Amino acid sequence: MKKTRREFLKKTGIASSTALLAPSILRPFSWAQQRKLGVALVGLGYYSTDLLAPALQLTENCELRGIVTGSPQKIPIWQEKYGIKDKNVYNYTNFDKLANNPDIDIIYVVLPPSMHAEYTIRGANAGKHIWCEKPMAPSVADCEAMIKACRDNRVKLSIGYRCQHDPNIQAYMKVAKEKPFGKVKMITSAAGYFDGRSNHWKQNKALGGGAMGDMGVYALQGARLATGEEPISVLAQASTTRPEIYHEVEETMMFQLDFPSGAKAACHTSFGIQMNYLQVNYENGWLKMEPHSSYGGNKGSMSNGTIINYPLRSQQAKQMDEDALAVLNNTAPIVPGEEGLRDIRVVEAIYKSAAENCAIKL
Ligand code: NAD
Repeated sequence: MKKTRREFLKKTGIASSTALLAPSILRPFSWAQQRKLGVALVGLGYYSTDLLAPALQLTENCELRGIVTGSPQKIPIWQEKYGIKDKNVYNYTNFDKLANNPDIDIIYVVLPPSMHAEYTIRGANAGKHIWCEKPMAPSVADCEAMIKACRDNRVKLSIGYRCQHDPNIQAYMKVAKEKPFGKVKMITSAAGYFDGRSNHWKQNKALGGGAMGDMGVYALQGARLATGEEPISVLAQASTTRPEIYHEVEETMMFQLDFPSGAKAACHTSFGIQMNYLQVNYENGWLKMEPHSSYGGNKGSMSNGTIINYPLRSQQAKQMDEDALAVLNNTAPIVPGEEGLRDIRVVEAIYKSAAENCAIKL
């Protein structure tokens, strides 16, 4: 028989007003609460509008309850579409007042990467759990500050690596663990698309643009997850075919990774080339994924005839439901801040390698 939260508090004698007002991570639960957690999306651009808000209509453990935006014209559209109450609408100035709003349990930062650290830290200081989009932040120092703020405030931090929630990606992570084909010898991975815009944050260094952080992390994740190891050395080269657009940040980055086991990876990312695949060559076989990092329909095969093609209704809904469960059950999220940081350590080394034209040890 399911107990209600009130019955539990009564029995254990912890129903003080402080316990009721404390951030949800501090509440003494060992099972999932019966209510849905309230999510506020921060930044109502492409990803929030086209993917996250629609996915939040499918989730079972959380729901869209608030918005944070600097664009007043978007407010009535979002309120009408998603029934968002006036009291759950914020801008970047009154953002910190979220601390006093019990409707919102989770703040999902969906802003340009240079803004991730500030809104993660302010959100954690407001006592809210944080979901933050990839790339976690432009620097290792930012990532460490974000992890510290969430730890200090005893709130969860999850990074929006939706693919790690996808059973098709988990299938090759399992191969990395169980090694049915022996050691990994060589990985080739690529993630890119053609971006025709010329005045977007993705072309702006100060806002955290560049192909490496935006798409390159998918190629990097492919190599890290297929080996289950962290690279020990990187060698990278940046280039552009459109210097009139890509003069602050790279249009294309090619990077090689060396892993402790001897595995090597050749990875590519670009804002000028459509590519989306992963190939892993083992001692005794191979695995191919194409597409590898799409929103849906990632699929692949292995040299022993295994087909990887798990159906998935919505990657983002699965990600947010699993991340909400981690909050409700007070367990570790599938992609914690530390995982975002591991990527950014490599990304920093990749930029250093490209700038200095030499291999960088990690
Ligand atoms: P976008 O440009 O469409 O939206 C960014 C939002 O931030 C806009 O609403 C914009 O108004 C707001 N903003 C606030 N201050 C800004 C400023 N100073 N400059 C520019 N914009 C500002 O971008 P997006 O594609 O929605 O990306 C947002 C985040 O989501 C990025 O971190 C991106 O990497 C991530 N993302 C992740 C996925 C994924 O599959 N996980 C997919 C797309 C985007």
